[in-house]
Amino acid sequence: MAGEGTIVACPRCGTRNRVRRSTQGAPRCSVCHADLPWIVEATPDAFAQELASSLPVLVDFWAPWCGPCRMVSPTVERLARENAGRLKVVKLNVDEAPAISARYDVRGIPLLLLIRDGAEVDRLTGAAPPARLQAWLEPHLRPVSEAHPVADQS
Ligand SMILES: [Zn+2]
Repeated sequence: MAGEGTIVACPRCGTRNRVRRSTQGAPRCSVCHADLPWIVEATPDAFAQELASSLPVLVDFWAPWCGPCRMVSPTVERLARENAGRLKVVKLNVDEAPAISARYDVRGIPLLLLIRDGAEVDRLTGAAPPARLQAWLEPHLRPVSEAHPVADQS
């Protein structure tokens, strides 16, 4: 297991893309160049690398035994889809990462942490409905128009 990325199906054409860790920009479909939803299940070892992104990073601290985490998980996945190209989502199982949980002062889960340029800018504890989460995120994301500075020519 070298952690060579995650397979993500393109929402537009269905192509299965291998998405690697990247510090610059967002992953795009290799065939149609649509922005891909970016969700990563981070291991503790790779966590710091995953946060080093030019996009805002939403960290979902969760655990398998946590019922509210299961409720918020589909919402987080939906946010990744709806904000493809503007947001990276990193999921971290707190049971596997006690040191990281301590560093970020995780007292209750689910905890959503918003990171920009490697630093925490906001956090939200507990399950929240999709509309509230999107409203919470929106001020931290680039406007849709700026997220696509270059139109696809191909
Ligand atoms: Zn595609």
